[in-house]
Amino acid sequence: MNEELKSGLSLPIMEHFYTIQGEGRHTGTAAYFIRIGGCDVGCHWCDVKESWNPSIHPVSSVEEIAKMAASKSKTIVLTGGEPLMWNLEPLTAILKNLGCTIHIETSGAYNLSGHIDWICLSPKKTSLPLEGVYAKANELKVIIYNNHDFIFAEEQASKTNNNAILYLQPEWSNRDKMTTKIIDYVMRNPKWHISLQTHKYLNIP
Ligand code: SF4
Repeated sequence: MNEELKSGLSLPIMEHFYTIQGEGRHTGTAAYFIRIGGCDVGCHWCDVKESWNPSIHPVSSVEEIAKMAASKSKTIVLTGGEPLMWNLEPLTAILKNLGCTIHIETSGAYNLSGHIDWICLSPKKTSLPLEGVYAKANELKVIIYNNHDFIFAEEQASKTNNNAILYLQPEWSNRDKMTTKIIDYVMRNPKWHISLQTHKYLNIP
């Protein structure tokens, strides 16, 4: 990794856009999304595989991105890819100075960095979260692709701090099959909530 990226002053930004958060605790609320390229977690059902290779995304000044984002919204969602692959200190410091609240969507496979106000931990079997992320997660969002994922979800919930809000979310390509099972599971286990990818139903980014 070159010095520019290591410092976090520039990051491979895949895209950034103002939209409505579609998933989890903040569903339905407006936010500016910054999608950072790079992920080595390797989920076979990943719907943003084009994010995996960071070298195909333009290395961009985080100051410029932060100013643009903060001019549109005071709620920022950092996503990827896996945003914790990068040093988020400079980007989040600038956003905080601009009065923003910062959310992150992460697999938790890397250490936390920067100033994050809301952590959505979405653990993946291929690369489990680090202890420090379980401890600080505000919500736990487990993607349900098959029946074993319910067992995985309970294992992950047992490792996550007790204040985290628990979500089960159907994997999009398998939603017809798994949504019914999640509804049944949540009714039998009401500590869980169902999360749907409402932005996809709304046909927005
Ligand atoms: Fe895709 Fe996210 Fe899995 Fe990475 S962690 S492979 S971006 S779903």
